[in-house]
Amino acid sequence: MKVIAQTGHEDHAIVTILETASGHRLECVESVQPPAGRDEKWVLLVSTLFGCPIGCPMCDAGGNYHGKPTLEEVIGQIDFMVDKRYPDRRIPCRQFKIQFARMGDPCLNPVVPDVLRLLPERYDAPGLMPSVSTIAPVGCEAFLARVLEMKNRLYSRGRFQFQFSIHSTDSAVRRRLIPAQTLPFRTMAEFGDRFVQAGDRKITLNFAVVENISVDAAVLLRHFSPERFLVKLTPVNPTYRAVENGLTSAIDPLRPVSAGTLTRQLQDAGFDVILSIGNPEENRIGSNCGQFLRSHQEATAPLTDGYQYPIFSD
Ligand code: SF4
Repeated sequence: MKVIAQTGHEDHAIVTILETASGHRLECVESVQPPAGRDEKWVLLVSTLFGCPIGCPMCDAGGNYHGKPTLEEVIGQIDFMVDKRYPDRRIPCRQFKIQFARMGDPCLNPVVPDVLRLLPERYDAPGLMPSVSTIAPVGCEAFLARVLEMKNRLYSRGRFQFQFSIHSTDSAVRRRLIPAQTLPFRTMAEFGDRFVQAGDRKITLNFAVVENISVDAAVLLRHFSPERFLVKLTPVNPTYRAVENGLTSAIDPLRPVSAGTLTRQLQDAGFDVILSIGNPEENRIGSNCGQFLRSHQEATAPLTDGYQYPIFSD
């Protein structure tokens, strides 16, 4: 694959636009989380679709959908980032996380479970931990079953992360924030019952918390067991789409206390809560949300707190 453009900083995150042999473009990201060094934690994000047909109103990866990368094209992004740092493919990082979360929902590309199958034989990486995050589009049950099979076979006992992004407990609002038909909470909960076994990580229920949008601990508790699900709260990233759609974050990344009331309500209901506030440098780089090049180059007005780093292109 050919490098088309890059942006970012070695000490935080580097976004790369790659062109495949078929002429399509993919984006991938590698990041570290200072003060921890790469030997402590190295995180790769790969794209699983060319663009994304869902078009969530807070995500710059939505739109411009033009197909599914092949198995080789998905794994080629990982090879590209690994070979640059560890050409012998021995990866000594204590945690080596691969997130299928750059461009596209992974459930829409059936090669993803095959990538999961190949990773342990391709890389000598004791810290390997795949991470699959999805909005759970309807019809993804067979995909989920294959992911579950791979987790049980290759990544048991806490070496796999799985996340449902749901954003609101109000189904009409959820449909607005995720403009696709998605699995009902009941089906997600049943999947959790099968997925989480002794020693496994709980499944994450992810909320990018938009101002004035309902996240109701009682509704969550009606469907999801705190024994198998935890809640992650994140601020809405400063993306072009979020600004265009008037979505304001209910969590101020500079004032984590702004998530205090919601965190307490969820904890009182019995859920573990992770407040995930990313490194502001990653927003400035634009490594948090996909389709960097397209969003950035087509934008008519600059963002003040995102996409601030220069792009180097061929
Ligand atoms: S959040 Fe995920 S599903 Fe929604 S547009 Fe972005 S990549 Fe697609």
